[in-house]
Amino acid sequence: ASLKIDLGSRSYNIYIEAGILKNLRNYIKNYEVAIITDDIVENLYGDKLVEALGDVLIPKYVIPSGEGSKNIAVVEEILQFLSDHKIPRNGGIISFGGGVVGDIAGFCSSIYMRGIDYYQIPTTLLAQVDSSVGGKTGINLPQGKNLIGSFHQPKAVIIDPDFLKTLSPSQIRSGLGEVIKYGIIDNYPFLRYIEENLNGIKNCNGKVLEEIIKTSCEIKAMIVSKDERETGLRKNLNFGHTIGHALETLTHYQQYSHGEAVLVGMFYETKIAEFLGLVSKGYSKEIYCLIRKTDIDTNINLNYEEILMATHSDKKNKDGKISFILPTNKGLVNELFFSTEILKGVLKEVLTIE
Ligand code: NAD
Ligand code: ZN
Repeated sequence: ASLKIDLGSRSYNIYIEAGILKNLRNYIKNYEVAIITDDIVENLYGDKLVEALGDVLIPKYVIPSGEGSKNIAVVEEILQFLSDHKIPRNGGIISFGGGVVGDIAGFCSSIYMRGIDYYQIPTTLLAQVDSSVGGKTGINLPQGKNLIGSFHQPKAVIIDPDFLKTLSPSQIRSGLGEVIKYGIIDNYPFLRYIEENLNGIKNCNGKVLEEIIKTSCEIKAMIVSKDERETGLRKNLNFGHTIGHALETLTHYQQYSHGEAVLVGMFYETKIAEFLGLVSKGYSKEIYCLIRKTDIDTNINLNYEEILMATHSDKKNKDGKISFILPTNKGLVNELFFSTEILKGVLKEVLTIE
């Protein structure tokens, strides 16, 4: 399947097909490129990628896998690497890996020589359904996640679901977090489809995964095409992320993968919506059930005051108020702002360990 992100002169396509890697040169014509990948992906698929690119000598920079690489020191190393290998102004970067590689490689391509082309070849479910699409790039500061970054759209996103066969159950669950999010914010029938095909997803059934990736990318493409810079509609993608980011920061990215933190975040943010009477008991129960069926542990060993503190560095906050995207109805969400005082009371109610 092929989908279009419609952004005028910055438009590009997403190509989704099992085995598409073999035909990579149909989509990447640029020969003055460098590959950025991580050590795990390099070991699993490094040779396959080079073969698909025609076995030409392509400079490749391999970073250590994991969120810890999303920092300014790694960015500097990559920029020097690009310069050492004389990647020109009209050259490009091939980002080959999960969301971490995509975020760093995208960021580097947005600042190297004031911006060069990049191509996304995402290899995790999370990256295939979410982070490779939409042009958000970034790295972390000790003060918080993704505090440095840019909007820089790729030239193309090439998605091969065959990569997902080597993911662990927890990595599949991580992608599933963002997939469930799409259902809740935009598409109730899709939410039902996910529930009905949960075993297929967990077992990496090719057909089911391709369908899930396609619909997720359609939803993200629609949202990004309407609101590239997150002034309105795109904010809805942050459902589950206010608490999710707080959990990631507080546990130093050790306890949860990103999508797992989002699953737990959606669980408690739905509780907030229910507590405030924004959403019906029946529907919120459906959401809790589906989240629990992913086998995520929704108990958090943190108190509400820690979570409250951590939500203060959220990028969405405005005038000292903390932003939440909350479900209101099937396939609908709404942004609400809370003062610290009000939020403290709400979190105290909602974050009691069951
Ligand atoms: P990741 O890139 O760390 O990948 C997870 C692990 O899987 C890594 O150890 C990686 O080496 C390994 N891996 C990758 N492909 C594999 C494969 N095919 N088989 C086996 N192992 C493989 O993490 P992620 O979950 O892909 O992405 C999370 C990151 O994405 C976070 O930093 C998050 O902030 C970012 N993100 C960005 C956006 C965006 O719009 N830019 C959206 C969502 C998330
Ligand atoms: Zn996310």
